[in-house]
Amino acid sequence: MRFVTRFAPSPTGPLHLGHAYSALLAHDMARAEGGTFLLRIEDTDTERSRPEWEAQIYDDLRWLGLSWPEPLLRQSDHLARYDAALAVLADRGLLYPCSCSRADIRAAQSAPQEGAPVAVYPGTCRGRSMESRRPGDALRLDLRRAFRAIGRAPLCWTETGPDHAGAQETRAETLIPLSGDPVLGRKELATASYLLASTLDDALQEISHVIRGADLLDFTALQVLLQRLFELPTPIYHHHRLIRDAAGKRLAKRDDARAIATYRAGDATPADVRRMVGLS
Ligand code: GLU
Repeated sequence: MRFVTRFAPSPTGPLHLGHAYSALLAHDMARAEGGTFLLRIEDTDTERSRPEWEAQIYDDLRWLGLSWPEPLLRQSDHLARYDAALAVLADRGLLYPCSCSRADIRAAQSAPQEGAPVAVYPGTCRGRSMESRRPGDALRLDLRRAFRAIGRAPLCWTETGPDHAGAQETRAETLIPLSGDPVLGRKELATASYLLASTLDDALQEISHVIRGADLLDFTALQVLLQRLFELPTPIYHHHRLIRDAAGKRLAKRDDARAIATYRAGDATPADVRRMVGLS
């Protein structure tokens, strides 16, 4: 199998040490396998994405010593393709419009769920038809119908990351209560969500190995479900550990002190950054 992986940042803020680890690890693994490392810009969130953050991504990654084939894929150049995929799902009766805000979803939840920081969408708008869609509505995937469309088969994939390595399997009964019907079409401008766009692009770019942080682990089953719906291949997933600050907190884009650009502007070398994230 040809080894193709990608680093897929969203240009919504500065890259930090956690991104450096993700990009370096993916680049190292591709090199070790004689494979290809791609950079993909995930800017479907047109409100938060900025050209200056995109430019900084290129500068940061080049400074770290990474290279990638050009032209790269920028998702905002592909919105029509994602819209076409949404239309396919809508024609199959798998999508419905949803006008619920985050506050509505929290309020509808009877008790906070343990370990679930984000309230699970309770399905308030599930009965709505696509014809009732109003500007500003999101589009959600009806998970029950989606599982019926794939013959209720379990979702299977292979994980090679340090935690939960091995064959993975999830069924509708497990996934539906944990995830709730996910948003595939965003409220704002109704463009595709991360979940849909990244799944379609992993297939388009023939990604064999998705290497990314463990914070994205929970998206995997939904991505495999979308792969089944569109009859796309399933890559191997490798979720790596997260880089944390001294207090054990996961780094965030707001955390400028750990931004690659801050190290770049100071005395640190790319080799220092590799050491800081535990790569030799
Ligand atoms: N664009 C996503 C992010 O910046 C990463 C997507 C992925 O690796 O699947 O968090």
